[in-house]
Amino acid sequence: MVATFTHEWNTPAYKGKASFPVGLFIDGKFVDGSNKTEIEVINPATGKVITKVAEGTDKDVDIAVIAAQKAVDTVWGLNASGAHRATLLNKLAALMEQNKDELSALEALDNGKTFGWAKGTDVTFAIEVIKYYAGWADKITGQTIETDEKKLIYTRHEPIGVVGQILPWNFPILLFTWKIGPALATGNAIVMKSSEFTPLTAIRMAGLIHEAGYPPGVVNIVTGYGNTVGAAISSHPNIEKVSFTGSTLVGRKVMEAAAKSNLKQVTLELGGKSPNIVFDDADLDQAVAWSVHGIFWNHGQACCAGSRIFVQAGIYDEFLKRFTEQAAAIKVGDPFGADTDQGPQVSQIQYDRVMDYINSGKQEGATVHYGGERYGEEGYFIQPTIFTDTKPNMRIVKEEIFGPVGVVIKFEDEEDVLRQANDTVYGLAAAVFSLNINRALETAHKLRAGTAWVNCVNQLHPNVPFGGYKQSGIGRELGEYALYHYTNVKAVHVNLGHKK
Ligand code: NAD
Repeated sequence: MVATFTHEWNTPAYKGKASFPVGLFIDGKFVDGSNKTEIEVINPATGKVITKVAEGTDKDVDIAVIAAQKAVDTVWGLNASGAHRATLLNKLAALMEQNKDELSALEALDNGKTFGWAKGTDVTFAIEVIKYYAGWADKITGQTIETDEKKLIYTRHEPIGVVGQILPWNFPILLFTWKIGPALATGNAIVMKSSEFTPLTAIRMAGLIHEAGYPPGVVNIVTGYGNTVGAAISSHPNIEKVSFTGSTLVGRKVMEAAAKSNLKQVTLELGGKSPNIVFDDADLDQAVAWSVHGIFWNHGQACCAGSRIFVQAGIYDEFLKRFTEQAAAIKVGDPFGADTDQGPQVSQIQYDRVMDYINSGKQEGATVHYGGERYGEEGYFIQPTIFTDTKPNMRIVKEEIFGPVGVVIKFEDEEDVLRQANDTVYGLAAAVFSLNINRALETAHKLRAGTAWVNCVNQLHPNVPFGGYKQSGIGRELGEYALYHYTNVKAVHVNLGHKK
């Protein structure tokens, strides 16, 4: 019997109540996992259990793959028109809009991000992504190709079939839509694993997907752990593509499993250690405000976080003073507080990881310019933290911390900063601040990163591709580019009199 989760958010700022089943979602129904075991979901603001959700296994992945394949062969894939796929995506977007407060409250409860950010950014952007891909669903077309022969030759962009998708915990509902949007627009059926740390919005979305009228088997959600459900998806012989977002370490395992099983197609959205470069001719007010957002947005748990802040020598002291003042003004606390800027880190594991990095910085001789401690008595809160006096080989400079910890580094000139900024195994994003457009663009073009922001940071849009160079990933999400990763291209040659 699938359990129901009832949640009530009743704070001075926000109020509401909702209930939904917390099972796996397979073949259009909520079910228990085949082992009947459960996963505890923890509230990161208190460390207490919120609820338990069904735990899936590799057996459940098998059942989900069969359901997905059946859908592709009968009512989905080549059997569903683009217009129908668009209608369903638009219905889903409308249902998300109707349930926006509930989805935002779930995200705040489960992940610890503030209700205000969840509603204003994550859920709003998630709805826009679904609407954007609804627009593409009836525009998936191939080409006709001219040759010097008497032939009609054209290409078809056909759905791949059953695709696997694996999510992290930092933007649970947002990345859910980045994955399902292009996959459903192009007619694929999905076997999805949400993060074991933040399963609630994915499960709630399964209910909305059902309500929107998707045929059974088109979207299947198997909540569970990485080394069981995630590994089963990556190595499944009947899943022909896997899209993974998470750490570079696990991305490597996913690719290896894909290679060893059926050579399934792989796209990876991985980690980062993004440079944020402030030249001495920047608008300093703007550069400081954006740089604060760059590292402290989402409690530093953003793959594209501007975690290495390079500041030119002439403005270094003034920048650091203002940057520290703004970091100190960040209000850390209850995610449901109306004026809270920063909630807790997502889990005890993540809290320990970030504190370990802070301690390594101290031990390796960097200066804690601000913060560096736990915040409060319960939950996984960490003060916004700024390190200075770092060396290039320190762990806090080289490795992704994934917490509210930035390093501020002085540089001399373009050559110096480009060398340091590109000295990383990652290449997800980069930001440049300068009012000299030539200098800004030249630097942006020389940075080895999938996204370069000029006089802004952490800007993402449904229409614009996002993804990494180097060990930050393979392929792109969002925009038209994501669609290419969800279709197989077939070339059809029709002989119109071309003789042997
Ligand atoms: P993670 O790699 O630990 O886990 C990601 C997902 O993989 C989870 O669902 C997990 O259960 C699953 N997993 C774990 N082991 C697995 C295995 N052996 N096989 C298959 N799946 C497995 O990452 P996380 O801690 O959830 O998320 C943080 C990381 O995600 C950071 O490195 C961050 O930079 C990255 N990230 C990247 C982007 C991007 O777009 N580039 C976006 C968000 C997060």
